[in-house]
Amino acid sequence: MVVFDGNGRKLSIETKVVHGGKYYDPQTGAVSFPIYQSATFRHPGLNQTTGYDYSRLQNPTREEVENTLAYLENGNFAFAFSSGMAAISTILSLFAPGQHIVVSDDLYGGTYRLFEEVYKKYGIEFSYVDTSKIEELENCLKENTAAIFFETPTNPMMKVADIKLITELAKNLNILTIVDNTFHTPLYQKPLDLGADIVVHSGTKYLGGHNDTLAGFIVVNDINLAERIKLIQKSEGAVLSPFDSWLILRGIKTLSVRLNKQQENALEIAHWLKQNEKVEKVYYVGLPEHDGYEINKKQASGFGAMISFTVKDSALVERILERIELIMFAESLGGVETLITYPMIQTHAAIPKKVRDRIGVNENLLRLSVGIENDEDIIKDLEQAMG
Ligand SMILES: *Cc1c(COP(=O)(O)O)cnc(C)c1O
Repeated sequence: MVVFDGNGRKLSIETKVVHGGKYYDPQTGAVSFPIYQSATFRHPGLNQTTGYDYSRLQNPTREEVENTLAYLENGNFAFAFSSGMAAISTILSLFAPGQHIVVSDDLYGGTYRLFEEVYKKYGIEFSYVDTSKIEELENCLKENTAAIFFETPTNPMMKVADIKLITELAKNLNILTIVDNTFHTPLYQKPLDLGADIVVHSGTKYLGGHNDTLAGFIVVNDINLAERIKLIQKSEGAVLSPFDSWLILRGIKTLSVRLNKQQENALEIAHWLKQNEKVEKVYYVGLPEHDGYEINKKQASGFGAMISFTVKDSALVERILERIELIMFAESLGGVETLITYPMIQTHAAIPKKVRDRIGVNENLLRLSVGIENDEDIIKDLEQAMG
C-alpha cells in the first residue's frame, strides 16, 4: 500500500509509522522527539507568541503525536486526549438534546456506559443495532438521527460493518459517521478514506502497544468539525500529557512490526482453537468462514489480532483463567503481552444481561488479545490450561 506524504513523496504506512509527523525536533535535531514538559510558554512580546501559549491549548509533544495520527489516518486534523473515553466523550459533546445516535449493539462496554449513564440524561437518544446488517441499520434511522457510531471489527464479537456502505447511506441523509478504529488501527484500516467523518481511537491499545499508557485520539478532515472539537478539547481540558504523548509516539514507531507479528500469531492460535474439541466457536476476522471475512478483506489490509471464542462447557472458563501461566488474565488489549479477558464480567459488565445475551456475550465467551510472544508458547499455555 503506497501513499504520498505532504511533499509528494511515496511512503508506505510501514515507513510512516516510524517517522511520524515532523520526524525529529527541528530545534535541536533530536531524533527522539523531546518531551516539552512545560505548562506555559513565554511570550516574546505583546501580541506575540511562539505558537505555544499554555499546554491545555497546545504543547509541542502533543502536537507531534496529533500530527502523526492525522498523517497515519490520512486526515487533516487530529486531537489527543487523556484516554479513549475522553476522546469519545468529546465527540458526544458535539451533539445537542433531542438528537439521536445509532450505535453498534456490540461495542466496548465503557462506550455503552458513557452513552447510557452520562449522555442520555442530557437528552441525547441512542439506538443499538447490528451495524453489520445494513437493513437493520436503515430501519433504525429517524428524523432526528445525527450520527452513526460504530466499531469494525466490533468488541468482542468481531462483527464487521461495511464502512463505505454506511458512510454513503449517511452522507445522503446528512448524518455524521463515527468509526472507532481501535482494533485495526490505521495500519490496516483507514475509515476517512472510506468516507467516514470522524475516526476515534483508544490509543491505550495498539498505538501505545505496551500496556503502559492511557490515550485517546480523534481524527477528522472537515475544518468546521475540527474547530468544534478543538474548542471542546481546550475548554474541557482532557488532553494527553507531554510524557504520555511521547510514550505513544514511541509506541507507534513499532506499530507495524508489532501488529503484523500479533496477527501472524493470532492466525495460528485461531486455527488451533478451531480444532480443539473443547471449543465451540471461534470468532476471528481472519478465518474465511467468519461472517465478515469478505467485507473486512475489501476495506482493510489486515485482520488484526483479536480473537473471541466460546467453550462448550462454561465450567472450563474458570479453569482456564486460573491455570494460565504465560497469558495474563487482564482487561485491555493491543499490547505486546497476550491477555485473556472474560468480557461478561470485565469489559462488558456495564451492558445489561438482556443485551449481552442477544449479542452473544455470555458465560462461555473468552477474548484473547494476542501478543508478540512465540506462538507455540502461547498455544502450549492454552493447551495446558484447557487440558
Ligand atoms: C479500550 C477501548 C476504548 C476506551 O479507551 P480507554 O483508553 O480505555 O479510555 C474505546 N473503544 C475501544 C474499542 C476500546 O477497546
